[in-house]
Amino acid sequence: MAAYDVVIIGGGPGGYNAAIRAGQLGLKVACVEMRATLGGTCLNVGCIPSKALLHASELYEIARKDFAGLGITGQVGLDLTQMQAQKSDSVTGLTKGIEFLFKKNKVDWIKGMGRLDGPGRVAVTAADGAEQVLEAKAVVIATGSEPTRIPGIEIDQEFIVDSTGALAFKSPPKSLAVIGAGVIGLELGSVWRRLGAEVTVVEFLDRVIPGADGEVATAFQRSLTKQGMVFRLGQKVTGAKLISKGKKTTGVALTFEPVKGGAPETLEVDAVLVAVGRRPFTAGLNLASVGVELDPRGFIPTDHFKTKAAGVYAIGDATVGPMLAHKAEDEAVACIELIAGKAGHVNYDVIPGVVYTSPEVAWVGKTEEELKASGIAYKVGKFPFAANSRAKVNHEAEGFVKVLADATTDRILGAHMIGPQVGEMIGEYCVAMEFSAASEDVARTCHPHPTRSEALRQAAMGVEGWTMQA
Ligand code: NAD
Repeated sequence: MAAYDVVIIGGGPGGYNAAIRAGQLGLKVACVEMRATLGGTCLNVGCIPSKALLHASELYEIARKDFAGLGITGQVGLDLTQMQAQKSDSVTGLTKGIEFLFKKNKVDWIKGMGRLDGPGRVAVTAADGAEQVLEAKAVVIATGSEPTRIPGIEIDQEFIVDSTGALAFKSPPKSLAVIGAGVIGLELGSVWRRLGAEVTVVEFLDRVIPGADGEVATAFQRSLTKQGMVFRLGQKVTGAKLISKGKKTTGVALTFEPVKGGAPETLEVDAVLVAVGRRPFTAGLNLASVGVELDPRGFIPTDHFKTKAAGVYAIGDATVGPMLAHKAEDEAVACIELIAGKAGHVNYDVIPGVVYTSPEVAWVGKTEEELKASGIAYKVGKFPFAANSRAKVNHEAEGFVKVLADATTDRILGAHMIGPQVGEMIGEYCVAMEFSAASEDVARTCHPHPTRSEALRQAAMGVEGWTMQA
């Protein structure tokens, strides 16, 4: 029986980062992954392929709508087969990259489905049914999450799709209904709107992107509406039925009704994307063999990554917290460092969020709503991209940066942005917050001119009322 210091179940951002860190620290490590490729949901059917389509579809839209104004002429066409092929090439390259990193760090990839088999043992069933048992001083569960279903709505991945099916349409649907105005719904809804679909987003709440700052969410919805997305907020979806003509399915009839009561409506569309959240994936793990029970929402309860079973740890989407690849990655590093006898720590106050649409939305720390609810006195500094020279010359001067700082100490409590590529800039505020910076620290830091990043500094100046360029 192969014996390891650490066996990790799951090869996504939680699992593969845990495996690499364990290898770096000299632990004998195996990672059990049942997919044919490493990288989990993120690399195979999540973050990475969606960003590939977001990038390509954004360029397509810019070429069609903005090139003439920039003095670039010529016809632009859509070759979706090639767009999908370049997406797949990127995915393959990156999943192979993880394989390389495993070899480099002496991580054994055990192919198959892993399950706990009592204390210190992980059983693995390979695709051909072969079984093997691994001995492990420590086991890290990093099995991730799967899309949440709506009872009564069956996903066929052709007409009614989840995020996986919505990455693989062979031709753009003429009309697409998106259930859920969260990150997945608005990112993938943006892709297909840019490629020609009429997109209607049906959302239960009366706002988009729950969890993001309210002012940013309102500006974001306004921007997406201007782009042509239709929002039906405060609506509860009650059913989705395939429409057939003879033997052929031609579309979907989606029914919904106002949450506050009122007449139901039916919307006939070519396709429906169900994007109503994700739930932890723990099926078949045999947690009972080590005495671990799930919490009422299906998460594995943990305390500093430790489950109640000695030597069994859990990280990432299968545990409570934001379901984000970078949160899983941070937990992976901290968990392995604890196992290796070092001090592992995750600062949950500094986990950024990004929506990779155009404009992008990015945030870190507390929202205004959260600060008000907890009675913390704060000051606001705000700067519009309309007053930022680089954004202006690039014709992308939509959105703003907002900084929230403690009214007494000036410590930065949150930063919220909507605008051009703000996802690439939020890291500056993450670093500032990790160093417990005051807004004045950012305001007095030299930023290159002309860059969009100057908006971050001007917003910080605004906390003490001395924004200079607006
Ligand atoms: P989400 O939780 O972000 O949004 C789901 C939305 O669906 C919510 O607004 C909710 O109110 C709505 N909803 C739920 N049930 C509904 C119903 N029956 N009818 C109408 N609306 C309903 O979930 P998601 O967008 O599916 O994303 C899942 C997870 O994946 C999230 O945790 C997200 O953070 C993560 N993710 C992140 C990124 C990113 O960071 N860019 C990208 C994709 C996914």
